[in-house]
Parts: sequence; C-alpha cells; structure tokens
Amino acid sequence: MRLTRREALALGAVSAAAAGLTGTARGLIREADAQTRDIAWSNWSGYLSATPARVFAPASVDELAGSMAQLPAPIRPVGAGHSFSALVPTDGTLLSIDRIAGLDHFDEMTGTVRFKAGTRLFHAAQALEDENRALPIMPDINKQTFAGAISTATHGTGIDLMALHGFVTGLTLATPSGELIRCSETENSDIFKAAQVSLGSLGILTEIESQTRPLHRLRKSQWFEPIEDVIANAPELAREHRHWEFYYLPYTGMALVITNDETEAPVWRDPDRDDNKDMADLRMLESLTWWAPPLRRFLSRRLMTGTGAASEVDTYWRVLSSERAVRFNEMEYHVPVDAAQQCLREVVSAVERAGVRVFFPFEFRYIKGDDAWLSPFEGGERCSIAIHRYFEEDPKPIQDVVEPIFRRHDGRPHWGKMNTLGAADFASLYPHWQDFLDVREALDPEGRLLTPYMRSLFGL
Ligand SMILES: Cc1cc2nc3c(=O)[nH]c(=O)nc-3n(C[C@H](O)[C@H](O)[C@H](O)COP(=O)(O)OP(=O)(O)OC[C@H]3O[C@@H](n4cnc5c(N)ncnc54)[C@H](O)[C@@H]3O)c2cc1C
Repeated sequence: MRLTRREALALGAVSAAAAGLTGTARGLIREADAQTRDIAWSNWSGYLSATPARVFAPASVDELAGSMAQLPAPIRPVGAGHSFSALVPTDGTLLSIDRIAGLDHFDEMTGTVRFKAGTRLFHAAQALEDENRALPIMPDINKQTFAGAISTATHGTGIDLMALHGFVTGLTLATPSGELIRCSETENSDIFKAAQVSLGSLGILTEIESQTRPLHRLRKSQWFEPIEDVIANAPELAREHRHWEFYYLPYTGMALVITNDETEAPVWRDPDRDDNKDMADLRMLESLTWWAPPLRRFLSRRLMTGTGAASEVDTYWRVLSSERAVRFNEMEYHVPVDAAQQCLREVVSAVERAGVRVFFPFEFRYIKGDDAWLSPFEGGERCSIAIHRYFEEDPKPIQDVVEPIFRRHDGRPHWGKMNTLGAADFASLYPHWQDFLDVREALDPEGRLLTPYMRSLFGL
C-alpha cells in the first residue's frame, strides 16, 4: 500500500474536528494605539500573562525617545508576543513599536535594507519582494517583529545559514534615558555586538539594517524515514541541501524529513498540505494508542514507511513558514553539532522511557555560527532540538525529562523559549557574558528595563 504523507498521518482517521484544535490570535495588545491602563496581555500560547500599569505604543521614534525617561518602570518592549520565556511580562510599561514599522530604505548597490524595527517578518518579506530581494532566512512562522526576532536569536534551518541577527549590519536603539544610539561593526561596535541579541535589555530597537539576497523560489520535499537512519545520516544530508530539518514523531520511530532547495521551476502548491490537520491527526493517533506504545510504533512504521514524497514550489518565505493554528509551549536548546545526534537519541529514549504523553513532534535543525555576544550560535554551528507540548497540557513533565540532557551536552537555550537557567549558567555558557553585562550597565544603570525575571537572568 502506498499512501500520501497526508493519508499516512491521518491513519484512516476520523475528522480533525474531533480533536477540537483551534487557535486564537495571541500576543496582541488588545487596543492597538493604547496609552491606557489595566490592559491584560498574554503571549501567543497563553502561558504568560501580565497586567501592565501602562501600555505605550508610540507613533514615531521622536515620540518614543521623548517619552522614555518618563515611562513607569520596568519598561518591557514587546513585539508579536511569540516568545515562551518571560522576557515581556511587566507590571510597569509594556512598550510596543507596532506602529513604527515598514521598509525605510533599500540600497541597490550593497543589497542592504533598513527596516523600522516593528516590521513583521512577513511584511518585510513582502516589501523586499517588490525589490526582487529576499530575507536571508525565515523561521517556521513569519508573524514576529524584526526587533523581537533578532532579540532572541530567531533562526531557520541550514548548515550554511546564520540566524537572522547574523545578517544584521546596523541598528538604532533608544536607551532608557531617551538617547538614540546607532551602532554597527564600525560604529559603537561593542554596543553592536551586544545589541544584535539583547532580549530587550539595552533599549528599544527602532531601526534594523540587514543584508538581503536575490528573490528565489524553493522546492520543498518531505517524506518519512526511520529515525535511526535520519539521525545517523544527518550531517551529510544537511550539507546536501540549502535547508534541511526533520521532525521526530514521538513513540513512532519515524521522522518527517524536510528539504528546501532553490529552483527555477514554476510555482506549485501541494493541495494535500495542511500542517494543522496533520497535528490533529497526530493527536488522534496519540489519544487512541497512548496506552500501547508498541502498537503506536507498529502502526506508524507500517503506514508511514515508503510513503510518497510530497513536494511544492513557491517563493521562499511562503514555503519556509506556515500558520501554526494549534497552540503549544516549547523548549529548544542549541547543542554543538558533534553532540547533537547523541543528544537527540537520549532525548527520544528518555521521553519514551518516562512515558510522557506527547503528540507534538520534536524538531531538529542546523544553524551556522556567528559572533554576536549573546548568540546561542556564538563560536560555531549548532543543532537546535525543540520539544513542544500542546498548550492545554503542562509543559513541565516533558521539560523536566529533557532539559538535563540538553545541559549535559552543553546546550544553550533559545532565549525566547522555556528554560530554567540563571545567571551563573549563562556566565559559563557565554564567553562574552561579562562584556554584555558591562554594556547593559552602561546603557541602563538604573535598571529601568529590568523585571524580576530579567534580573534573575543577569544575576542582579
Ligand atoms: C508558533 C511559533 C513558531 C516559532 N518558530 C520559531 C523558529 O522557527 N525559529 C526560532 O528561532 N524561533 C521561533 N519562535 C520563537 C520566536 O521567533 C521568538 O520568540 C521571537 O523572539 C518572537 O518575536 P516577537 O516579535 O513575538 O517578540 P516578543 O516575543 O514580543 O519579544 C521577544 C524579545 O524581544 C524584545 N523586543 C521586542 N521588541 C523590541 C524592540 N523594539 N526593541 C528591543 N527589544 C524588543 C522583547 O523585550 C523580548 O525580549 C517561534 C515562536 C512561535 C510562537
């Protein structure tokens, strides 16, 4: 029997509606131009919330800079609210630069672009398309703001592709005192190295300059393979493709491998593609077979092995990112490449031995190294291993199992995702930790950007 990827996942299943998976837009400040009080905020997954004393969404950089010194502390910048770690919640000022958005300038000679920092990634990609140019990478979704994305070292996948901040060539920051500072490799270079990934702890980013590349189409292919084969061949396969990654389907022994390579072929969309229905099917499979992991494994292997490869062609950003309507909470660690295969084997076996109920796949990606001080990819390429849990389930049981494994393999957590690390851990993981703290102290000596969570990160 030869099934399509979709049919295999569906497992002859019952309608997706039965799983009751719907998402609502999160991470939004409910009044766009609010200067108001007592507005509830929550992040995308709904796990984090806050009731800030003030929400401030300036309409211009001048208004922002002129107000900074008077805003109630702690001031926390917010982008699209798509982070899972508590970087944003504050009972002081929640500061959104959603209204400071759009393409400012494209330089045809150098191919660099300057965006206002509140620009969403999909808007950035659309605006660049008009110039026949592309963002250098794209994460799994494109709703993040440019500022929010670089602040936590948001990445895509590709052994030769840095995270988004690695392509940034210049930045402008409004400090807590309202001073505007421009920085780049050649101007205020220490501030630049600190600000490329800075968790909203140095000031408010207002402008971001980035390299671009020629607009291109990608052919996406995906198929199932036994997990042992995929892990064993990961480094070679990653080198063969511009973008390569896989998702391990827990308790099934099977991985969904995804490649994306440049092509001149005409646009072709897979009518079968429905990531959200796939998630519903996985949930159904889990709920029918959780009591018998061997059955789940047997069924999955039988139905998925040799399933026909699905493929589609489109403009890069339409292929690389998708809508994630099924909400989840996430932990992701970036592990040195030499340790990554063993780390994933241990994660899979520990979760399955512990019997934690989970239907969300584990994601495995490659990212090239860079030299930003707080970049998790500082010092060399790493593999990202991400564990997701459905938003209505407690994320802790699975995270308690996997986090010690990530730590044993010298993993650095994604700054925007759940982790339990503190200042002492970061000091040992990041060679430029103290350099970063010095820049932070110089730009925000009164700690006006520091909530208790931010203080715990910096040991203050
Ligand atoms: C469904 C989903 C899929 C995801 N996929 C990926 C992925 O493929 N790869 C990946 O690496 N990550 C991924 N993430 C994580 C996400 O990219 C990061 O958490 C990112 O930081 C979110 O951007 P945001 O605009 O929502 O910022 P927020 O979450 O609102 O803020 C993030 C940080 O940026 C700071 N910040 C925001 N605006 C400014 C500003 N103007 N100046 C200074 N600091 C600012 C905030 O204070 C905070 O510290 C995903 C998240 C979700 C929910």
